[in-house]
Amino acid sequence: MDYDVIVIGSGIAGTLAAINAARNKKVAVIRKGYGASALSSGAFDIASKTGTRGRPLKGLSTLSVAITEILENEQNHPYSILSRTFTGDRFNEFIGMVKTVGSQFFDELKSVGLGYEGSWENLMIIPNLHGTFKVTSFCQPSMESGNLARLRGRKLLFVGFDKITSHSKTRAGFLSRLLSDYGFVSFKDISYTNINIHEHNIAYNENDLVSLASAMDTPEQARYILNVLKQSLAGIEYEHAFIPPIMGIAGYNDVYQMFVDVFGYTVSEFLSSSFSSAGLRLQYALDKLLAKHGVTIINGTVVCEQNNDKIKTLTIIKKDGNSSQISANSFVLATGKFISNGIKKDTTWKEAVFGLPLFIGSHVIREPFPMNYLTDDPFDEQILFSMGVKVDEYLRPVNEDGKVIYNNLFAAGSILSGYNYIYDRTGMGTAMMTGARAGILSAG
Ligand SMILES: Cc1cc2nc3c(=O)[nH]c(=O)nc-3n(C[C@H](O)[C@H](O)[C@H](O)COP(=O)(O)OP(=O)(O)OC[C@H]3O[C@@H](n4cnc5c(N)ncnc54)[C@H](O)[C@@H]3O)c2cc1C
Repeated sequence: MDYDVIVIGSGIAGTLAAINAARNKKVAVIRKGYGASALSSGAFDIASKTGTRGRPLKGLSTLSVAITEILENEQNHPYSILSRTFTGDRFNEFIGMVKTVGSQFFDELKSVGLGYEGSWENLMIIPNLHGTFKVTSFCQPSMESGNLARLRGRKLLFVGFDKITSHSKTRAGFLSRLLSDYGFVSFKDISYTNINIHEHNIAYNENDLVSLASAMDTPEQARYILNVLKQSLAGIEYEHAFIPPIMGIAGYNDVYQMFVDVFGYTVSEFLSSSFSSAGLRLQYALDKLLAKHGVTIINGTVVCEQNNDKIKTLTIIKKDGNSSQISANSFVLATGKFISNGIKKDTTWKEAVFGLPLFIGSHVIREPFPMNYLTDDPFDEQILFSMGVKVDEYLRPVNEDGKVIYNNLFAAGSILSGYNYIYDRTGMGTAMMTGARAGILSAG
């Protein structure tokens, strides 16, 4: 065998699987690129269902209440499936496991230079420039400092940049009006302003916030842009300002420190939107973690045709069209969902590498257009997005009869069925928990 364990995919789920398996095994990750983890806002939703029509709940519940609700009511959710292996008080044992796995992972991220802040109990509310507010558990420090739950009574300022449509003055104004309308936390004043960022001599692409954040990675440009911001905000009265997420990508720590030195903790970043500076910071940290744990990264698309009950080899197709074979004792499927092409549709919907059946609840998707799982109202749950691979409590994909399909294949992350992160806000939490568990199980 070339490797003990091969992990397909290098998002949160694949990385956690790989670094956990790599503690005592020889591990490779094969990936065709970056997926949802790199596009995400970088915030870690562990469990924080929103209120009606996407609004934050007025009385925010705590993380353990939100997880307990899932374990009690959603039997197909990966949290519930994982908790079935506990024999005692499965609620407390599972919550304990979430805290342990999560804390270890945030320590790992910190060891490669990316801090995360938040709480294992209290949820935070962070604004994003889609004009909504994310109720979440952990964020990068430059975003966590903008937790609205802690900014009550302050005078808030939302800052937009011209020529960056996704983060313009109009969006900032929209957000400030929404926040006033929601009225769920009270502020002294909410206003917004615009900075004519394009009038300055900054090397970035119009409408591309990630390129502006990348410009900050160069210390001279960072100092220059910081100065532009400082001067632009100088005449405005505010106690806390939100700026678009531009505090660097590879150089995030240094840039954030520069902001703290100049503004203290009175300037935070909005949550990123795709393409995402915070998501890229996270993905770069994941790549560093793979290297730190001695995991081999192989770039290419995996395909596989298997007929028996054990997978032995995979085919990797490289960008230049060349292909090669690779073998291992066990495999972790962490290929993500729609956005990463972990699932695909030709005549019907299938998992893309092994052709595993896809489920919504206990129903196997056979129809080419399962439109009855979508509604006209964007604020409804949209059950279609819970489509994915079904697994047993050891994360092995099963067929319609509940029979394990391949004994040495484990699945983790958003390829799994039974949850809808847009609705139940367990996106990173599920990827983290199932990824870590799949890594341990695959290592035997
Ligand atoms: C736009 C967006 C914003 C989000 N925001 C949040 C948020 O704020 N908070 C939150 O908690 N969750 C958020 N989520 C959800 C969260 O990002 C995902 O649940 C999580 O990142 C999934 O991680 P993953 O490792 O399962 O998949 P991914 O990160 O998608 O990784 C999949 C990997 O598999 C690889 N791959 C796929 N097919 C193949 C193949 N055939 N061969 C080789 N490699 C392959 C891909 O290249 C990629 O490396 C968001 C999702 C999206 C799309």
